Amino acid sequence: MIHQVNKKDLKIGISACLVGEKVRFDRSSKPSNFCINDFGQHVTYQSFCPEVAIGLPIPRPTIRQIKQDDIIKVARPDGTGDVTEALKAYGKKVASMTKHLSGYVFCAKSPSCGMERVKIYNSEGNSLVSNGVGTFAKEIMEANPLLPCEENGRLNDPLIRENFVARVYAYKHWQNLNASGLTKHKLTTFHSQYKYTVMSHDLVAYKNLGRLLARSDMALEDVAQQYILGLMTALKIIATRKKHANTLSHIQGYFSKHLGANERQELCEQINAYRQGLVPLMAPLTLIKHYLLQYPKAYLAQQSYLSPYPDRLRLRYAY
Ligand code: SF4
Repeated sequence: MIHQVNKKDLKIGISACLVGEKVRFDRSSKPSNFCINDFGQHVTYQSFCPEVAIGLPIPRPTIRQIKQDDIIKVARPDGTGDVTEALKAYGKKVASMTKHLSGYVFCAKSPSCGMERVKIYNSEGNSLVSNGVGTFAKEIMEANPLLPCEENGRLNDPLIRENFVARVYAYKHWQNLNASGLTKHKLTTFHSQYKYTVMSHDLVAYKNLGRLLARSDMALEDVAQQYILGLMTALKIIATRKKHANTLSHIQGYFSKHLGANERQELCEQINAYRQGLVPLMAPLTLIKHYLLQYPKAYLAQQSYLSPYPDRLRLRYAY
């Protein structure tokens, strides 16, 4: 199964303060309960504190992003102690050493680690906008646009949390596929396994990815590159209740010949109850998995949609 990835083989980058390391400016940490106690049971973290790595002490004066003449620098509030270039250089170094990572969790709002919405000040000390990107985080994300990235604060949202974890496991699956030597057949099989996953995010993307695989005028490497970019982009789109319900209805079709009238009605009711927000996604999925055991379908059994990550994460009970 896709989600059966050994904990030691699933490596995730993370801001060091989120796993309890006391590396913040005031010698504190910012432990993320989900990252440490839930996700941490299934992954191995590789933690980085860019500010400490470039030689800043603990404790240390705070730093911020300051815009001056259209250039953003990271420095102390009074403009001294510019560490922009040091943070950029360290970001480049880490990015080049961490191609094996399958995801990254950044610490929100940090001028170094923030993934988005970082405050930018003017040289007078006034907050101008909150649309900056942490200087270290930017280097990591730009060097690897496929890498699933999220922030600790956003991971408190059940939909965003589920989306991030699903992307991590899909990306790890892709990394394993590549490591085993990619062939046209393996790529086609991979795509078929993600049919319902992609459908629940973006139906158009599934069709476009299928068309891409059918092209005979492109080298396998080029197809694979475009394919994984298209897939990871589609998976970023949040799978809504409506899209899930439509996907479940498609899956329901596989059992239409086997189910009796009562069983069919029960499954319809569960899907409708989910569509209306009365039960979580796990309810109709549990019924589908039950029918799959009774009426095995190899094509369906291999679908990542049914087991995108370990059930013990309980991510499909919350929405
Ligand atoms: S946010 Fe980043 S730079 Fe700041 S303490 Fe955490 S790991 Fe270090």
